[in-house]
Amino acid sequence: MAGPVSRRAILRGATLTAIGTSVARPVRAESATDEPPRAASSSAVAIASANGLRTVSKAYNLTVRRRYRPASAAVQGVALVEADPNDVTVGYGGLPNEAGVVQLDAACMDGPTHNAGSVAAIEDIMHPAQVAELVMDRTDHVHLVGPGARQFAIDHGFPPVNLLTDRARQRWLAWRAQRRNDDRLAPLTDDPSAETDHRAPTRPWGTIHCSVVSPQGDVGCCTTTSGLAFKIPGRIGDSPLIGAGLYCDNEVGSAGATGRGEAAILGGAGWLVIERMRQGASPVQACVYTLRRIAEQSRRAASWQPALWDVDRPAYSLTLYAVRKDGSYGAATMRGRPGETKFAICDHRGARLEAATVVFPTA
Ligand code: ASP
Repeated sequence: MAGPVSRRAILRGATLTAIGTSVARPVRAESATDEPPRAASSSAVAIASANGLRTVSKAYNLTVRRRYRPASAAVQGVALVEADPNDVTVGYGGLPNEAGVVQLDAACMDGPTHNAGSVAAIEDIMHPAQVAELVMDRTDHVHLVGPGARQFAIDHGFPPVNLLTDRARQRWLAWRAQRRNDDRLAPLTDDPSAETDHRAPTRPWGTIHCSVVSPQGDVGCCTTTSGLAFKIPGRIGDSPLIGAGLYCDNEVGSAGATGRGEAAILGGAGWLVIERMRQGASPVQACVYTLRRIAEQSRRAASWQPALWDVDRPAYSLTLYAVRKDGSYGAATMRGRPGETKFAICDHRGARLEAATVVFPTA
């Protein structure tokens, strides 16, 4: 058995749809440092985006106390947020696409087997991360999309449900009435008199990423989202793409992203964070390096898509999270006020929020 996890535990982790309760510990904000403290007694740690405080607590406890493999612990941890109607960026209650349909993206990756599973643009399924885990465990594939992913889920016992809450529907109706930004760009033209419309991407973004290190130093991760609000139907972001919205390597660590998915895809964000850590960078250093690379790419892209660039920095949000198998951890965000962007972390000291390092700070 690779690691302390039985196949039964793997399948239990993969097919549970009931949402357990987990107790969030007191929130404690700390300022970011370049070298965050390591867990002293064990490498076990769970990191997530700021909406994952309960997630990291649950994932940490599952891997430490119940010996779940890290990928399954992450998948079960994010289930709390997938089922939460108040988080409009993930799962049930997520904001729909421009046609008013909720389409979800999710993926998970397992360090010890270097395997991954993913579903994209899946409809009517509350726990896409669990379906992604089944794709990983029960198929020879990595990605399933659209109706095929939905049918795969139903075949495995996931009940189809209406994911569009009243609240999300009202926000969609309000957006549709104004229709300030629908992601379509004007065609490229040399005609200087041609009207172009490069409106800033002002709609809400959001997702949950969770990376976990087990007490044995194995790693795994998961990212799940309803994606960019009011997106073009069929659009998928970085969250279901291995190497973009998440990546792990059991020799190194685990990483993931939230924010503008297109930037994370074009920069190979998750993969690059892992490669930097492989070369010796700390988690924070690897995240900062990757964000700087992506910023440079966006500066070039801004020549044809000016809305991506804001004077001297990217105009969008992107946050990266990373853990090394030794239990060190960190996160960095592209822009914002220092201390504003938080991430959730749980180790032997409990669950808390800490501040991500800001690459382009604003006053
Ligand atoms: N990364 C997600 C996507 O592009 C959205 C987000 O994290 O805000 O779909």
